[in-house]
Amino acid sequence: LSSAQQSMIDLEDNHGAHNYHPLPVVLCKGSGTRVWDIDGKCYFDFLSAYSAVNQGHCHAKILGALTEQAQKLTLTSRAFHNDALGEYCKFVTEYFGFERLLPMNTGVEAAETAIKLARRWGYDVKKIPEGEAQVIFASGNFWGRTIAAISTSEDARSQEVFDAWSREVFDADVPKTKDPSSTTGFGPFVPGFINVPYDDPDALEAQLAANSDKVCAFMVEPIQGEAGVVVPQDGYLKRVRELCTKHKVLWIADEVQTGLGRTGKLLACDHDGVRPDILVLGKALSGVQRVREEFHSEMHRGVLPVSAVLTSSEVMLTIRPGEHGSTYGGNPLACKVATAALEVLRDEGLIENSRLRGEQLRAGLQKLSEKPGSPIALVRGRGLLNAIVIGEKGEKGSYGDEGRAWELCTLVERRHDEASERMAQHGLLAKPTHGTIIRLAPPLCITAEEVDQCIEIIGKSLEGL
Ligand code: PLP
Repeated sequence: LSSAQQSMIDLEDNHGAHNYHPLPVVLCKGSGTRVWDIDGKCYFDFLSAYSAVNQGHCHAKILGALTEQAQKLTLTSRAFHNDALGEYCKFVTEYFGFERLLPMNTGVEAAETAIKLARRWGYDVKKIPEGEAQVIFASGNFWGRTIAAISTSEDARSQEVFDAWSREVFDADVPKTKDPSSTTGFGPFVPGFINVPYDDPDALEAQLAANSDKVCAFMVEPIQGEAGVVVPQDGYLKRVRELCTKHKVLWIADEVQTGLGRTGKLLACDHDGVRPDILVLGKALSGVQRVREEFHSEMHRGVLPVSAVLTSSEVMLTIRPGEHGSTYGGNPLACKVATAALEVLRDEGLIENSRLRGEQLRAGLQKLSEKPGSPIALVRGRGLLNAIVIGEKGEKGSYGDEGRAWELCTLVERRHDEASERMAQHGLLAKPTHGTIIRLAPPLCITAEEVDQCIEIIGKSLEGL
């Protein structure tokens, strides 16, 4: 690492909070699928920050919308009307086929807004007794870091992998009921939340049947991104739709990470041909890029935070003036940037490209995994939301493989006195999500030639791992 990069990292270490564990690289520029460090080295960005920057870094049209609006009016708050919000709400509701939109800033705010809406609807429309509404979540979920969000955190790893990890990190066996990296030291937690296993419609049905008159919503990611790109069985969302309808429960789809072309369709729910009652969007809604580091860390890059909740009038209008809001939510700058980001997605064929390039990437990775002695145990994903799992074949990666996953991503690692060049050194940035799982999610504008180049880089980096 150059002394210039090291000194910037030291500044962060010495004066910032230690809530992240970033890869040791200091970036200063981005364009399309690539980013550059301060020494001028160029990398493919395979983090795409939790599947944002779907449109590519610093897209000219999105930046154009930003700078044009920035010179006119940036923020009014919702105390007054502005000339961008109404047009934006019309555009986005028509784009996704919902009746109404509530604008927020970050993903977690939008998800929490959805839960507030569901609770209110539960009391006003479903007539749940006051204070008794329940919301069901899937274990392994990730929807942010607020107290409400971590109140639903539950580790999705196997008991064995989890125990090895908890002994190493906490020097003790920690109950697996709550994900300790998210929750330890942050209680007490929000009541009224129930978890069921992910991708298990029978467990959901049992929970719904047991609490039918008190459950107002089931919130779920169509593919669990942070849990390690966990793709459910075909038809899971269809069953979710049927069960929620049967029990008069709102289905909330958290598409903050999976939405906007990331999985090869506009929404990941489209793979099952179903619609949620409430749709939660964020990240790529403004071309924002955000990267979560392992368990504790996140970093943001991109344009600006824009999130939204979309639903029917019946649900949305249960919240009345003065009952919910955000100073920045619906600001004219965000409205213009998000409109441009959605236009780029549609007009530049990024959704179809995501599907095709995703197939190409997984085929290439599959070939790499089939090589004798390959450390890739599993390849999975949809569109350009993909992951490889490092470990023995037939296993989902064991605890001891976490070091290898980290090494594969980093610049240079010394083993047995020999320096091995890994992905970052070869010009590709990616990061383990849950220990052994490396998410591979480049911007959706990646070309076929670039995908080939990246497969070659990953192949070279695997040598001798
Ligand atoms: N929901 C999902 C599925 C996410 O992946 C994330 C972030 O990674 C969030 C919600 C939270 O978004 P934000 O970090 O913008 O609050």
